[in-house]
Amino acid sequence: MKILVINCGSSSLKYQVINMEGEVLMAKGLVERIGMDGSCITHEKIGEDKVKKEVPMETHKEAIAQVLDAIVDPEHGVLKDMSELGAVGHRVVHAGEKYAHSVIIDDDVIKALEECVPLAPLHNPPNLLGIAACRELMPETPMVGVFDTAFHQTMPPESYIYAIPYRFYEKYGIRRYGFHGTSHKYVAERAADIMNCNLDDLKLITCHLGNGASVSAIKRGVCIDTSMGFTPLEGLVMGTRSGDIDPAIVTYMRQAENLDQGVANEILNKESGVLGISGVSSDFRDIEAAAEEGNERAQLALKVFAHKVRFYIGAYIAEMNGVDAIVFTAGVGENDMGMRDIICNDLGNLGIKLDVVKNRVRGKEMIISRDDSPVKIILIPTNEELMIARDTLKLVKGIA
Ligand code: ADP
Repeated sequence: MKILVINCGSSSLKYQVINMEGEVLMAKGLVERIGMDGSCITHEKIGEDKVKKEVPMETHKEAIAQVLDAIVDPEHGVLKDMSELGAVGHRVVHAGEKYAHSVIIDDDVIKALEECVPLAPLHNPPNLLGIAACRELMPETPMVGVFDTAFHQTMPPESYIYAIPYRFYEKYGIRRYGFHGTSHKYVAERAADIMNCNLDDLKLITCHLGNGASVSAIKRGVCIDTSMGFTPLEGLVMGTRSGDIDPAIVTYMRQAENLDQGVANEILNKESGVLGISGVSSDFRDIEAAAEEGNERAQLALKVFAHKVRFYIGAYIAEMNGVDAIVFTAGVGENDMGMRDIICNDLGNLGIKLDVVKNRVRGKEMIISRDDSPVKIILIPTNEELMIARDTLKLVKGIA
């Protein structure tokens, strides 16, 4: 079966076509500036050059129509016609407490996701627009929703309840939800394969370190804790997000500089993290270059970032009473050998021993711990699209 995977943002949309026979990526692309001047689609048939086309796209429906044209295009397309497409898998950010796994999309699912809009006001609306557009343009094609929050729904209450008056949970759903679930699940499954073990026998700590970053504790295939919280702001230090801070800081900052709520929110989400500490950039490559030239705040930003990852690794080892493997994934986790080195440095007493030679690798599935390390350290490039396609296939075939 050939599956179209859609990740729909407010003004952009990413897509992939995957042939599930052999899980082969056939085409991928990106639509940018939906509803703005200069909207364009960049389509790539795998093995050929990218083709970029500027075309007015006022709405998400027009954007999806362009995607469908591109994938059946006689020259650059990968399908003879739309009948070849078995299903569409949609990435959706927030499913609240409603779904702990992916689902076939019907009217009830749409309603449930609309109810989650207050929890993810920036993400769920464009995700829903993408789904609505696809349902209109392909009414006969099954659609599946795959949720960033779903994998974390297995957390026990002691992991997800905040110590604030309980009514805030009951009335407003304020609790830890966690995000990046599709990525944590994908790398956990791969780690079990690479280790030649059953996922049900393993205790894993998965570190998704990208621009947004989170760590999860996965015990016997089940997520028992994760660092992102009610929103993706909690947990690790990120590119531009603060991660954990004393909540009293927010009130203090607002008073000190007379900031309104929106500005404070913007500061914590867009001006903080390694960017905020270093004053250089949110990109680790820039920060590392500055650190090497002696920029002390850049050096500090890297240390604070690593400190927080180590902090969560320690916490999750305690929560699980041990760990069999630590997995690194996403932009920083996959590429930044220096950062992996700092994170794993001097953890020998916990049985975590990085092999500094094997660690000199980028973007490749590989065990990078020493042979005598009781805890494996594994580098696994994430593949959320493939995970979405796998869930979609299972559900459409009725085997989930
Ligand atoms: P997201 O999907 O959250 O936007 P990614 O997982 O693509 O983020 O990660 C992007 C980040 O990965 C970049 O901001 C950069 O800091 C980091 N990154 C990418 N390549 C490298 C590299 N070679 N060395 C260090 N950091 C890198």
